[in-house]
Amino acid sequence: MFLLFSTQNILLANTSDVVIVDRDMTKINLYKHIEILEDKTNKLTIQDIKNKKYDEGFKSTSLVGNSFGFSKSAFWVRFSLKIDEGILDALYLELEYPLMDYASLYIPKENGEFIVKNSGEFIPYSQKEINYRNHLFSIPNSSQGTQTYYMYVKSGASTQIPLNLYKSGTLIEQIDKENFILGGYYGNMILIMIATLLAFYKIRDKLFLTYGIYLLTYIFFQLSINGFFSQYFTPFPLEYSNKVIAISVSFVVLGAILFAGNYLQVWNGKYPKTKLLFYIVSAAAFTGLIITLVSDSSLGSQVSAVSGMILPLVILFGAISSVRSGYKPAKYFLAAWGIFLFGIFILGLLFLGFLPYIFVTAYAMQIGSTLELLLLSYALIYRINLVYQEKEEAKQKATEYLNQMNEGLESLVLERTKELNHKNELLSQLAIRDSMTNMLNHNASIEALSSMKSTALRNGYNLAVIMIDIDFFKSINDKYGHPAGDQVIIKIAEIINKNIRPSDTAGRYGGEEFIVILHNTNEIDAKELAERLRKNIESTKITAIENQSISASFGISVLNPLEPDLDIILQADKALYQAKSSGRNNIKNYSA
Ligand code: GH3
Ligand code: MG
Ligand code: MG
Repeated sequence: MFLLFSTQNILLANTSDVVIVDRDMTKINLYKHIEILEDKTNKLTIQDIKNKKYDEGFKSTSLVGNSFGFSKSAFWVRFSLKIDEGILDALYLELEYPLMDYASLYIPKENGEFIVKNSGEFIPYSQKEINYRNHLFSIPNSSQGTQTYYMYVKSGASTQIPLNLYKSGTLIEQIDKENFILGGYYGNMILIMIATLLAFYKIRDKLFLTYGIYLLTYIFFQLSINGFFSQYFTPFPLEYSNKVIAISVSFVVLGAILFAGNYLQVWNGKYPKTKLLFYIVSAAAFTGLIITLVSDSSLGSQVSAVSGMILPLVILFGAISSVRSGYKPAKYFLAAWGIFLFGIFILGLLFLGFLPYIFVTAYAMQIGSTLELLLLSYALIYRINLVYQEKEEAKQKATEYLNQMNEGLESLVLERTKELNHKNELLSQLAIRDSMTNMLNHNASIEALSSMKSTALRNGYNLAVIMIDIDFFKSINDKYGHPAGDQVIIKIAEIINKNIRPSDTAGRYGGEEFIVILHNTNEIDAKELAERLRKNIESTKITAIENQSISASFGISVLNPLEPDLDIILQADKALYQAKSSGRNNIKNYSA
């Protein structure tokens, strides 16, 4: 008994504070009431600690805090409780840091020994007193009175020692509330992730995919640091749990970089500085991942944590440059990430031991990320909407342009068609007309004759043909030259055209030979016309040949309806030959 008292008195004398557990106490954050001894040797046992020898080593949290970053040391915590008599509620001590590898609570017994309760991430859930994601120890009712408790903690990753003391009712209420909040939080995340991936499946916009991937890494990361992953989901042995944490940090950094890069259009090379920074962060996260996988998870998670700490600054830089360059969707992104990244930053400071472990710091990221998610979903919709608007505008512009093109094309086609028609007309004119005299050419004359002949035969009309040949034309050519000869041909064509009726047809049958086809005309009338032409030619004056008189000879033939097969041209030709041989400048009718 004495020994017990004396031991306790000695210990109590050195502790700075005694926590009173009375009727009114519900929950106490022990931060201010604990003292911590760092055991760099990793060799001290509870028996060593019990001895006065190490009393000096215990430091109050006002000096050392309760967050030690990546430390290889073991830590001993001590605190004193004065539990009032008549307190019947069960008491619970919570180490609110799921990632602690080992945590053992030493509850003093009357005989100076201790009841030891083990928890920690490396302790199988079956061996823990209570299966809870944080480390929870019950303090038996027999502990009434003032006693000093010890706790041993050791972590391969970051060491945080946030301790809370609860009465059982308060603890149940708090866990209930927390589960409600965290359940809502995870449910929210998972639903948004599923909706995002479905949106990607439907719309095939890579932005949705990268956001979905980012959310997936983020959920994994959250589950890990909240302790849920190792509590419910881990397929790995316990000793890998520190690796899982480091891996989840690397993943979330890579996921964030992937999504941010896509959203801010960093990958297309518009922002080379941002792109470089993004690559550096990715490389850091990737290096942390590799180190964790192949060797030391402590070093790996430190590298990953560093990448996680510079990530917010790099993404902020990227978002700000993007906003500055006038890229509108970046504004919402900046706002969303500003909130969230601040949360990560706080957590990074906490992990590296610069901030105490309290609710606001531990849940800074959840608080930030919930706000972020709302803003980010809006940002995503805003950007997608902008992309569709741009697409719609581009489509409209393209349609307008196409319409203009079509209009232009139509008028061009119309113009070209006109031109073509005109040219075709000219061409067909050329095909049937002699260009010098504009009379029907040889072939067209024969065709005209055959069609007029069939009309005449059908209707019982006469059809007369006069063949005309210029006299001594060779000598005109010889004397005045070929161009002068042409003038003569043109002049005679004019005379012929001027003297025939619209129903008659005249053609240039050969070089200086013409044919006149007279519709519904008998021999007498044909001869009269021929005479008129002959006289006109005889009296015409052409300066090109110095007004020298010229003449032509005429052969006439009239279609005989009784003998329609006879060649009327041949007959007219024969008559012409007769006119030539009987002295020229005269007219002969064909006679069989
Ligand atoms: P004839 O009185 O017997 O008809 O004598 P001719 O000299 O007129 O003889 P012919 O009818 O055989 O001669 C035709 C000449 O007409 C031959 C050729 O050089 C000339 N000639 C044919 N076509 C053209 C032409 O387009 N322009 C010119 N300047 N001369 C032509
Ligand atoms: Mg001739
Ligand atoms: Mg001649």
